[in-house]
Amino acid sequence: MNFQVYDSLRRTKRVFEPAEPGKVRMYHCGPTVYGEAHIGNFRSFLFADALRRWLELSGFEVTQVMNITDVGHLRDDDPEGGEDKLESLARKTSRDPWEIAAHYTDVFLGDVDLFRIRRAHHYPRATEHVPQMIAQIEQLIERDHAYVTDEGQVVYSVPSYADYGRLSGNTGDDLLPGARVEVGSDKHDPRDFYLWKKDPHHLMQWDSPWGRGFPGWHIECSAMGQHLLGTTLDIHTGGEDNVFPHHECEIAQAEGATGETFVNYWMHARFLQIDGGKMSKSLGNLYTVRQLAEMGHPPEAVRFALLRSHYRQVLNFTFAGLEEAAANVRKLRHFAEEMRDAAHGAEAGAAPEWLTRCVRRFDDAMNDDLNLSGALDGVFSLLHEARRHEAQGADAAAALAALQRFDQIFDVLRESPAADDAEFAAQVDALIERRAAARAAKDWAAADALRDELAALDVELLDGKDGKVTWRRTSSNANG
Ligand code: AMP
Ligand code: ZN
Repeated sequence: MNFQVYDSLRRTKRVFEPAEPGKVRMYHCGPTVYGEAHIGNFRSFLFADALRRWLELSGFEVTQVMNITDVGHLRDDDPEGGEDKLESLARKTSRDPWEIAAHYTDVFLGDVDLFRIRRAHHYPRATEHVPQMIAQIEQLIERDHAYVTDEGQVVYSVPSYADYGRLSGNTGDDLLPGARVEVGSDKHDPRDFYLWKKDPHHLMQWDSPWGRGFPGWHIECSAMGQHLLGTTLDIHTGGEDNVFPHHECEIAQAEGATGETFVNYWMHARFLQIDGGKMSKSLGNLYTVRQLAEMGHPPEAVRFALLRSHYRQVLNFTFAGLEEAAANVRKLRHFAEEMRDAAHGAEAGAAPEWLTRCVRRFDDAMNDDLNLSGALDGVFSLLHEARRHEAQGADAAAALAALQRFDQIFDVLRESPAADDAEFAAQVDALIERRAAARAAKDWAAADALRDELAALDVELLDGKDGKVTWRRTSSNANG
């Protein structure tokens, strides 16, 4: 296999070779869980999913990590300036930031399943890895890449790291000569950034060698990535906005702490736009996959709409485009049925020449930096060629097998069991109600029997703090 990927750090396409043959370790910047992830966020996550699926289809064993940012991601474009996104919502709504984070993490994972994204192997929460972050900060202090201020904040010293700016091209040199450090700041250089912050009003605080405080946003990804995947990762992805300052700072931290290369291939997805413009809360155009489903657009159509263009091109989301995606999904399903019928039960035979060409077209596009739009040309050429050659019997079976292989990336052939789901939910809710009644009547045998019945349906019960029982399907947690 000759998989080329565009590495945003080296600014060129390179043949992908993992550090350990046959195994890929990759890290993706995940959601900040102070709200629902919109379809723009999911463009980045679906890109990561397609990348994993293609690597797996190509025979690699992939370990995937996606962080959940539940502390330290500050508001404002000035990453040092604003308020913590989670805390700001907590204050506004008088809710507990831990509870907000737990809630939106659940919502996020539900959307991951709706989108048919293969679940990552690890979803580390920043709040659960503060000791790893502290350890990395200590290494940075030891190696003179960070300093402790009088107040006990820890700051990364950008001038101490010569390669700062290599990824983004943003060296901040224009700032350097004689640039002033903001009045009241305890930084030595205006480009320096906080690793450990102090703020008595912050709701989430941890003990550290520098006193109580909380970690900066950037340190979570270098610390958790290296903790779970080792010193050097094969691939690290994120959206284009992550390049600076987030990933630039991650590199400075990870490489400053270890002296080793942090990431061999950096990949960044361009933004999703809506109707040709930016998505924003104030414009009211931030859609989630659930909202779109309620409007009658099945998640697999949204999945298809977000996957069908090259990740390095800005993708413009429109409702017309979504309708077209839904129509394409129907076309693919219809073709699968057509080939199943035409196969008349035959096994797939050796691929005829026209079929081999379609498959090659698909594979070549995927191997060329995950060119999903080119790959789709291969998929649709299969529909066209199979019909033109009036594929029957073993040829039709081979065409169906090829389509199913393509679908290991796009994953749109199976239908969402929407109607069934509603029935299923009603059935589960009724069982839960009967179990609650049995428990209230202290009829433990009946309660246990009902619990077993629920377990047989692959349903896991979650006892809420308020005594309310919710549930989730355990079978949908399975990867793949
Ligand atoms: P956040 O929750 O803001 O930390 O973002 C989570 C991920 O979504 C990051 O990797 C962002 O780069 C990515 N992202 C945010 N907005 C968009 C967008 N409009 N299009 C594509 N990716 C995005
Ligand atoms: Zn990150």
